[in-house]
Amino acid sequence: MPDLTARERARALAEELLAPQVAAVEAAGAVPRSHLDALAAAGLRAAEGDDALAVVEELAAGDLATAFVWIQQVGVARWLGAGGAQDRRWAAQLDDLRAGRAHAGIALQAALRPGPAAVVARPRDDGDGWVLDGAVPWVTGWGLLDAVLLTARDGEEVLFLLLDLAVVRAGGEVPGLRGELLPLAAVRASRTVELHLDGFRVGADRLVARGQHATLLAGDAAGLRPNGSLALGLVQRCVRALHADPRHADRAAALAAELGSVRARLDAAGPEDLPAARAAAVDLAWRAAAALALATGSSAVIAPSLAERTVREALFLLVFGSRPAIREALLGGLLPGQPA
Ligand SMILES: Cc1cc2nc3c(=O)[nH]c(=O)nc-3n(C[C@H](O)[C@H](O)[C@H](O)COP(=O)(O)OP(=O)(O)OC[C@H]3O[C@@H](n4cnc5c(N)ncnc54)[C@H](O)[C@@H]3O)c2cc1C
Repeated sequence: MPDLTARERARALAEELLAPQVAAVEAAGAVPRSHLDALAAAGLRAAEGDDALAVVEELAAGDLATAFVWIQQVGVARWLGAGGAQDRRWAAQLDDLRAGRAHAGIALQAALRPGPAAVVARPRDDGDGWVLDGAVPWVTGWGLLDAVLLTARDGEEVLFLLLDLAVVRAGGEVPGLRGELLPLAAVRASRTVELHLDGFRVGADRLVARGQHATLLAGDAAGLRPNGSLALGLVQRCVRALHADPRHADRAAALAAELGSVRARLDAAGPEDLPAARAAAVDLAWRAAAALALATGSSAVIAPSLAERTVREALFLLVFGSRPAIREALLGGLLPGQPA
């Protein structure tokens, strides 16, 4: 598909590969590695900036679980890019990710949680790295991905450590590391686990970057744009489904116009407006999913169907990747009034 834009290539793969298999993939409980490889083979990992966001949106329109596993890499690439400036190993690893030779995820809770750290790092007796203890409540892509960029705290310092998960992918166990699969109501094929670290030993050679906890928290809002494309993709799916029914063509057109405004707001938002812009995208996804269920009628409650899956996925988008400011904006829209 050499002459197509990244968005067009992503849409073609979402419609021809992902959407037809989505119910089977959800029933199997795991995004097939062949999906990730096919998307990478189409050159979609090379997309950057607005193109990369358009890719996520189109993938999410077809299959949110695959888009969700796919988007994990955005954060990994950012930190490997920073690490690669100092260490050629990380530049090489980043090349592998961009070429689709490897796929990685990210676990940020120790970097972003105020108060006690989710994962504590203490220097090893032999001086070669750290011992990690704690639990990370959400880690996506367990058993699917080659590596995870895990954050851990040593006092006020946050360490970004790239853990090799080849053994986990092959079905094996790593001493000190245990992923407990979460029974998700939506995107269960993302294989999201609670990750327990119990005296897990990591070498100094796995350190990609370091940061100060307060600085990372203060800079967090600037990174909120990409996950917004998951919500845009769900809306896009509803626009197309409604449009396919002549009785709802006018509503589909109105929803498409709202989608354009919400996307433009996300694209223009700086850190100050990003939480509200993200909340607007999620609010639209929630309403669009409800509209699709209503347009479908009673059969929307029969699984598996496009409408019931879309409503379940809208629930996921309400709570995933949230921040206190996003949640307050959403709650304020649903239930006017001040928090206690
Ligand atoms: C199915 C699923 C899969 C997920 N997979 C991953 C994953 O692979 N990797 C990953 O890192 N996360 C993952 N998450 C977590 C997600 O990104 C959010 O951290 C989580 O949804 C926050 O929701 P909450 O309601 O638990 O937290 P809330 O209490 O609403 O807090 C939201 C987030 O804001 C942070 N926060 C609180 N105060 C501040 C502040 N002042 N400034 C900045 N941040 C603040 C919190 O630490 C938390 O991360 C996943 C979530 C879900 C539901």
